[in-house]
Amino acid sequence: PCVHKEIPKPCVAPKDALPTATFIPHEKNMFSDAFLVEVSRGCPKACTFCICRSSNRKTIFVPKEKVLACVPLDRKKVGLLGASVSLHPHLPEILEGFIARNQKITLSSLRADRIDVEIAKLLRKAGLVTATLGIDGLSERLRCRIRKDLTKEQVIMAARILKDTGFKGVKVYAMVGLPEETEDDIIEGATLLREIAKFLPLTVSVSPFVPKPRTPLSDARFVGIKEAKQRLSVLERAVRGYARIQTTSPRTAMLEWRLAHADEDESQSLLQAFIEGKSLI
Ligand code: SF4
Repeated sequence: PCVHKEIPKPCVAPKDALPTATFIPHEKNMFSDAFLVEVSRGCPKACTFCICRSSNRKTIFVPKEKVLACVPLDRKKVGLLGASVSLHPHLPEILEGFIARNQKITLSSLRADRIDVEIAKLLRKAGLVTATLGIDGLSERLRCRIRKDLTKEQVIMAARILKDTGFKGVKVYAMVGLPEETEDDIIEGATLLREIAKFLPLTVSVSPFVPKPRTPLSDARFVGIKEAKQRLSVLERAVRGYARIQTTSPRTAMLEWRLAHADEDESQSLLQAFIEGKSLI
């Protein structure tokens, strides 16, 4: 953040500039078959680890008419982009609009407490087969501490609704290494994941927590490579046989942390090391 000597102010798009909409035909683009449209920018929630939280910038939800108007009718699939797509107050109407035009939709993750039968049915009708839920903190205590504010019951209810409305699988995002995390939190998270897996085939994507600049947890300690490995292995062992688990390498997380917090000198050394093909950690 300090490459430019001072931390630049967040860039806020004028409301009228949204939605941005584009098509990126590239094999490495995970949405390569979808026309992309940004339906929201920012997020009204206040999760303390997240750079999209409300206090960083005002949330913009793009009106349904504008979202639908910027997607060409001949596109078969539409990717809905934004940190808080599932919190869009008119998400059902947007989905209905695309369903009526026979266009499938795809999106990244959903808040579990936003999933009700109506939204789940519409998502399914719009072609989604696997839903992704971000729980982030493994225990309810941690989710409360990071202001994710999702109860175990809300997450299980979301899994139940997804199953009942015909979804074929669920993916869950979680982190290890949040401040104050103990082994009990990890075990509680594993118990919740095993509960979810009773409803649908489950994939868990888990990363070591990386404190981000401009968030209340910016100065939190990075858990470290050794400790992150140990915590990941506790979780992996506890969900073995219940879920497929994908982990972000603790070394990658460490590098992400260093890059995010590097001052000008450290940024230059990291860049030089990269140019010379040396290890960055
Ligand atoms: S983690 Fe999700 S719900 Fe929380 S502030 Fe970020 S985008 Fe919003």
